[in-house]
Amino acid sequence: MPEREALPPPDSEAKDFGSVTFIITQSCCNDASCVAVCPVDCIHPAPDDPDFATAEMLYINPDECIDCGACVPACPVSAIHADSELPGHLSDYVQINADYFTWVGDIPFPAVPPPAGPKVQDQAAPLRVAVVGSGPSGWFVTEELAATRRADVEITVIDRLATPHGLVRHGVAPDHLGTKDASLMFDTIARHKSTTLRLNVDVGRDVTHDDLLDHHHAVVYATGAPVGRTLGIPGEDVPGSYSSAEFVTWYNGEPDHVDLAPALDHERAVIIGNGNVALDMARLLLLTPDHLHASSDMAPYAIEGLRESAIQEVVLVGRRGPEHAAFTTPELLALVNNPDIDVIVDPAELTSLAEIADGERTAGTYAASQKVALLKRAAAMAPTGAIKRLVLRFGLTPQEVVGEERATGIVLARTGDPADLETIEAGLVLRATGYRSTAVEGVPFDEKSGRFANDGGRVIDPASGELVARVYTTGWAKRGPSGVIGTNRTCAAETVTALIDDYYEGLLPEPGGDKKSFDSLLTERGVVIVDLAAWKRLDSHEKAEGKAVGRPRLKITDREEQIRIGAERSVV
Ligand code: NAP
Repeated sequence: MPEREALPPPDSEAKDFGSVTFIITQSCCNDASCVAVCPVDCIHPAPDDPDFATAEMLYINPDECIDCGACVPACPVSAIHADSELPGHLSDYVQINADYFTWVGDIPFPAVPPPAGPKVQDQAAPLRVAVVGSGPSGWFVTEELAATRRADVEITVIDRLATPHGLVRHGVAPDHLGTKDASLMFDTIARHKSTTLRLNVDVGRDVTHDDLLDHHHAVVYATGAPVGRTLGIPGEDVPGSYSSAEFVTWYNGEPDHVDLAPALDHERAVIIGNGNVALDMARLLLLTPDHLHASSDMAPYAIEGLRESAIQEVVLVGRRGPEHAAFTTPELLALVNNPDIDVIVDPAELTSLAEIADGERTAGTYAASQKVALLKRAAAMAPTGAIKRLVLRFGLTPQEVVGEERATGIVLARTGDPADLETIEAGLVLRATGYRSTAVEGVPFDEKSGRFANDGGRVIDPASGELVARVYTTGWAKRGPSGVIGTNRTCAAETVTALIDDYYEGLLPEPGGDKKSFDSLLTERGVVIVDLAAWKRLDSHEKAEGKAVGRPRLKITDREEQIRIGAERSVV
């Protein structure tokens, strides 16, 4: 990682916990903020440990924790609790944290090298960078740029929506409020003196890629992956069959997806894919609307839609065996522990699950061992008779979504045996099979992989293999739709190192325009700029309206209304 100065901590206060041990729980985002502040290096895997990049979550060693509590305010997603204050539904995490260190045994964790000294070099004017996208990857790259000691930097963070935080607002499940606390950290980054937030600016419609280069030394595309992958099977476009990109943004109130109106009038829904997005959608279809009202920031119209829902059963379909299930253990554990939902697993579909031998105990196999144990536990549980059911199926490949006017079911084949067919009746068929990024006019894009081809964050033209001058990428637009929020921090560090190296190599010439002329261009084009003050005004409004009705936030989902509320006291 490049050398960086610490930004102020998020808006939370340190507490005196007395003598306790701390536990990392379900909403861990792996950004390793806790590792950086731990005085005794008891949180692993750390960024320099083996398997950090693929870890499901981080763990605190109870034998080494000195109970100082420094990690608690550092966590951007409220995942760390004192054992004395651990909510009951998270009690499994005491064992899960401790077991990690038993599992890895004597594997030595490498010492983290101390950061190198400051290296600012001569600059005629600040390095100006446009970051396109204000989701987690955009904010982590902005944080790295703002905190670097290698250069004075001015950053313009641009988003096409009138609200910031991308996936945290419109992708993270609305009942994962701890994870959504990451937006507090992002607001802190936005307040940094070198950062200017420009929302409601569509690159491609309001400004071109060349406009950005006219006013900045470099552009970083942190545009995520907003489009659902298709399966290429008959019927997948019929009403009632949607991608997670459509369904998740619907219940999260993204203004462009409020009109989806999914059919919820059949007792069963089928979800293709078994990653964490599939589990998010299943859980939200099965939880009660009253619970969602009080404990989520789900769009109000979506909660009303779910009040009318007839769905009693969600079937999650994996095309491979259970050993390849893409969900993480904490997400399935939350469902297995939910007394209102029966998780049903057929033991006959678990035969390919093998215990991990003692000789294979590595940091990387801990999560796999947890998943094996949890799936076996679920298969052994007798149904409680709960009204709602989550059925996990494995080894089935989708063939066709059936239904003329709307989806009425799905045909599946046993993977590897196309003649072994099974039809499941359902009124809603959702695909949680991954995402694609979208191209930006004037920037080479790799249609095959659905992201920007790149070398460590430097964008490459996939046709010629040449680097594209002054263009960088980070997050899902760079590496594809994988990892959790904190994964974007190391990804961003790599991109920023490349960008600043190129700057000192003389590869980023001075732009003609500056911050003022960029704003003038936006105004000339008739763009209504939504800035940080406007966002904070809308944010406070939504929280206040939510509090009045017993909700954490009442989302405004109409773009014009968002802009109007934000403009009431905006400084622009
Ligand atoms: P994912 O984890 O990559 O899962 C995609 C699923 O779709 C897999 O089960 C995959 O099966 C299946 N699939 C892909 N193509 C298919 C096809 N043609 N036919 C049938 N099945 C197909 O993706 P995701 O669930 O969208 O999640 C994206 C990332 O966000 C992940 O890293 C995830 O952990 C993260 N996330 C985390 C949280 C959380 O921490 N709470 C919440 C949401 C998302 P194969 O494995 O066989 O390819």
